[in-house]
Amino acid sequence: MPDQYTAQDFYRKQPVINHLHWDGSLPVERLFEFYQHKGEFPLLPEKDISGNKINHRNQTERVLDSPEKLAQFQQGLLTHWGITDVFKIPIGAMKTDNDLILAAIAHCEYLLQQGVKYAETRFAPPYHLNPYGRLFHLNDVIEQALLGFKLGEANTEVKVRPIICINREIDKNFIAGKSPVNSIDVVKAAIKYAENGIAGIDLACYEPCAPPDDFVSAYRLTLDTPLKRTIHAGEMMGSDEANLRNIRYALEHLRPDGLGHAISLHKDPKLMEIVAKRSIRIESSPRSNLHCQFIKNPADLGLDQLLQAGVKVTINPDDPMMWPQGDVADNLALAANAYGIGVVNQTIRNSIETAWGLNKEEKEQMVKDLQFNKPELFLK
Ligand SMILES: [Zn+2]
Repeated sequence: MPDQYTAQDFYRKQPVINHLHWDGSLPVERLFEFYQHKGEFPLLPEKDISGNKINHRNQTERVLDSPEKLAQFQQGLLTHWGITDVFKIPIGAMKTDNDLILAAIAHCEYLLQQGVKYAETRFAPPYHLNPYGRLFHLNDVIEQALLGFKLGEANTEVKVRPIICINREIDKNFIAGKSPVNSIDVVKAAIKYAENGIAGIDLACYEPCAPPDDFVSAYRLTLDTPLKRTIHAGEMMGSDEANLRNIRYALEHLRPDGLGHAISLHKDPKLMEIVAKRSIRIESSPRSNLHCQFIKNPADLGLDQLLQAGVKVTINPDDPMMWPQGDVADNLALAANAYGIGVVNQTIRNSIETAWGLNKEEKEQMVKDLQFNKPELFLK
């Protein structure tokens, strides 16, 4: 066993990604080019992470005039800059029907480079509504995304089955008149495209702003549909108790097929048992959790305990452009160093077995291909 695994050891080893965000994984160079084509530069926000106004001496100070500066800015997510301010920049490049096509193709190219053959990429359609960009309704956004991913697949052979996210703040904004749609509208739009390639729904964005309790009616709409249900739960609540509270509520009321992060799950044997029994997959991302300071060490996730209890753990990049060393291979290396190679081999297998848009034959073939690579993967 080597002293330390690196991303290189796992580069192109995991063919399936169960959890990543479209806007958080747009290659930075492509994003910078996009703004250049428009004759614009992305700008630093006016407020810091605490919401305090920054006294820029002049506008020039705010300009992100190189891909390196843009990358550095994005990597300050939740440490220097607020979540909305950071995501505003990639979302700003996904505001017209044509933008979405280009962004979908760029996404498939990124996945191809990472050796990924299939991904459940997620996005929140309300962020992309823009009548000036011919994205009038949620349906327009979803149709355009599906078309873009289809074109991306034709170019790269990478299959993307999108997951539609409810952005957690949406109902509060709707009530305040700041959003034209609410969570029910988002889920209804996802259901409309359940037969056209949408894999499921998710509840995403800043967890403390709205608990899973607020979305029971929206989630219930999907019960008799082919859509799968996943939820970001137990990620950002700041204590095991509060994380477990959201996980417990989601399990009891939202009938999840997957849980995003569920950081403290291994600390509650009863909940672990329920998750294992119902074959609910855990979509973990050690780099994301570390970078956002929700954990101190990858070992804090107890992934080995979860696997021992029969939980289907998967390892994911989440938002690979929002932190240094964020690709799936980097996450696998972190996990291998914390838990050993056996855990990583199991999670790679789980990523295939729990994919929602692959048929039995496709999964079997992917697992076979893994075994073919086994000596390379196992023996260092
Ligand atoms: Zn996520």
